[in-house]
Amino acid sequence: SKAKLFDEKTDTRTSFKDVAGLEGAKEEVQEIVEFLKNPDKYTSLGGKIPKGALLVGPPGTGKTLLAKAVAGEAKVPFFSLSGSDFVEMFVGVGASRVRDLFKQAKDKSPAIIFIDEIDAIGRARGKNNFTGSNDERENTLNQLLTEMDGFGTNTNVIVLAATNRADVLDKALMRAGRFDRQIYVDLPDLRERKEIFEVHLRPIKTAETLDLDFLAKQTPGFSGADIANVCNEAALIAARKEKKAVNKQDFLDAVDRIVGGLEKKNKIIT
Ligand code: ATP
Repeated sequence: SKAKLFDEKTDTRTSFKDVAGLEGAKEEVQEIVEFLKNPDKYTSLGGKIPKGALLVGPPGTGKTLLAKAVAGEAKVPFFSLSGSDFVEMFVGVGASRVRDLFKQAKDKSPAIIFIDEIDAIGRARGKNNFTGSNDERENTLNQLLTEMDGFGTNTNVIVLAATNRADVLDKALMRAGRFDRQIYVDLPDLRERKEIFEVHLRPIKTAETLDLDFLAKQTPGFSGADIANVCNEAALIAARKEKKAVNKQDFLDAVDRIVGGLEKKNKIIT
């Protein structure tokens, strides 16, 4: 909801096991997990823990999921907000929300802060692509930069941010000591789609052993979110037909339905 701008969760339920594929990205964030688990081990030798990393990739590819899994694996609290929450916000509110969020995270450190859709606040300054007031957006962005610069070496808060438009971000965000690492989270390939099906079939009662290779081949260009949708939709289709279990045809019907939805969405955009 709009009112709940961020929420804190000690989200120990999400783990790397829930994130299918994305081997490279998981390897990169593993280091962050290690820092969060044992910050003193790194800082005692004079090293500086990274402050932030940018997760870059198309919608629905698991950026939020991966950020939650980092918190889950490290067993640290997860604080999040979405850039789009700042749309239509009154002057001063965005900056104070950012300040509050960082304060809460520091109080509970080690912790993860996750900023989804950072492009909504982090667009290059002076370019008015924001639905709300541009001054307000700049204030919010400046507050974010200030907070990150204000981290001492022992703050032990790592900020992960997600975007599908890294090209529009203000360069100041990518400077050393801010989001100076970029981690790519791409659309899944055939093998990864198979693994994503595996994860999302776990709760589904299937009538037969499904050929995951076949399902993966039916879903080129699908994101992890699309595949999660297919599995859910297949179960609903089967239930509507009073079936006791979900079969291959239900999955194919679900794929058709999702493809239809994706085509409609693209028509509106283009
Ligand atoms: P957006 O850019 O739209 O915010 P995102 O990249 O943050 O998207 P998520 O919100 O993490 O994507 O993904 C949505 C849902 O899709 C997840 O909760 C999960 O159910 C499923 N999903 C996406 N990617 C994967 C994956 N790699 N493995 C398993 N499930 C996935």
